[in-house]
Amino acid sequence: MQNPILESVSKAEEVFWVNPGKNKVENNQEKPAFSAEDVKDAEERLKRFAPVLMYYFPETRETEGIIESPLKEISNMKSVLEAKTGRKINGKLFLKMDSHLKVSGSVKARGGIYEVLKHTEDIALKTGLLRDTKDDYLKLTGKTAQDTFAKYKIQVGSTGNLGLSIGIMSAALGYEAIVHMSADAKQWKKDLLRARGATVIEYTGDYAQAVANGREQSEADPTSYFVDDEHSRELFCGYAVAGGRLDEQLRGMGISVDEQHPLYVYIPCGVGGAPGGITYGLSLMYGENVHVYFVEPVQSPCMLVGLASGKYSAVSVQDYGLTGKTEADGLAVGRCSEMVARTIEPIIEGAVTVDDSKLCPLICDLWESEGIFIEPSAGAAFQPLMMKEMPEVSPDAIHIVWATGGNMMPQEWRDRLLE
Ligand SMILES: *Cc1c(COP(=O)(O)O)cnc(C)c1O
Repeated sequence: MQNPILESVSKAEEVFWVNPGKNKVENNQEKPAFSAEDVKDAEERLKRFAPVLMYYFPETRETEGIIESPLKEISNMKSVLEAKTGRKINGKLFLKMDSHLKVSGSVKARGGIYEVLKHTEDIALKTGLLRDTKDDYLKLTGKTAQDTFAKYKIQVGSTGNLGLSIGIMSAALGYEAIVHMSADAKQWKKDLLRARGATVIEYTGDYAQAVANGREQSEADPTSYFVDDEHSRELFCGYAVAGGRLDEQLRGMGISVDEQHPLYVYIPCGVGGAPGGITYGLSLMYGENVHVYFVEPVQSPCMLVGLASGKYSAVSVQDYGLTGKTEADGLAVGRCSEMVARTIEPIIEGAVTVDDSKLCPLICDLWESEGIFIEPSAGAAFQPLMMKEMPEVSPDAIHIVWATGGNMMPQEWRDRLLE
């Protein structure tokens, strides 16, 4: 193995990888897979569905049917991190609380719910439930619509949170929802889905096996639609909407992002769709002034190996002698999405890995210093700030730790983790 980073990766060491492909012209594909138009289209569609979301999920009424999370400054946690590392963090530190997103309590509420709504709109227009996209979308909550959707299935393979978002939304609209869960998925996520009326199929294997089986069963059934985490354009666009939303929030707080005030963002990565889409959305907003780092567990850094080897989804973490197993269930993915890897290669700043042993202490620190609970996968996002390789940044920098999940975890599970 010539690449020293990949050598460290294969020893399950924590690494700090700086992306040599950033801004490389040859990485800018001839025909980019996504455009600003795609993201705008997703934003508009989410607005059209706002009345439907308010109908099924009254908790979204205060934000008028738009599912968006708070952005909170966490200066106490910043002090804790500085004390832990003995280094000052220049600038302000914020937590983007997707951990507290309405309806499904994780970053998957962005992409997953969006994809179900897109599919629903397609069916509604095709079957005449909606005349056109200016029609009254509340019709989709009526009996005729429910009866129509009941004839269709929506399936997905998941380590947990994607299953929650797809399952909860699909079941609410009246579809038959089938979630294929990998062995990594936590029991409470399966219980919650069943309680919401979804069918959960459990696998003894990893995420790849759950996806492969789900995809196969869905393809054999013309009434079934498969949410394909590895290849989905819809998921990606749903996630990308975060860029404009964050910009609005920062402006509302009187914060501008520019050359003097660069933005640093840290996002946990599994297959890549969520961090990739968010990164894409942010780069549309801020171009050169945003610097995004992905964070992955030492045992399942699929995006890092995909990018650093230049082989994308042709390699898996197992090819590097790793297990793919981690306490960070949302990140337990052995092979990255090639579509996402290629799209973000010219944009991301780098990727880092984190040892599982750090996750619980970090989420405890956040709980004790700020009173905010997040799950271990989300705790990974603090890792770049803990690493000595992190470059010194402007005193006016803005750091955002993207907390990707946690709010739906039952109390007894939280207590056990915090202990
Ligand atoms: C899914 C997930 C991620 C990563 O998203 P991918 O699209 O799989 O890369 C990060 N954190 C949590 C909590 C997740 O559930």
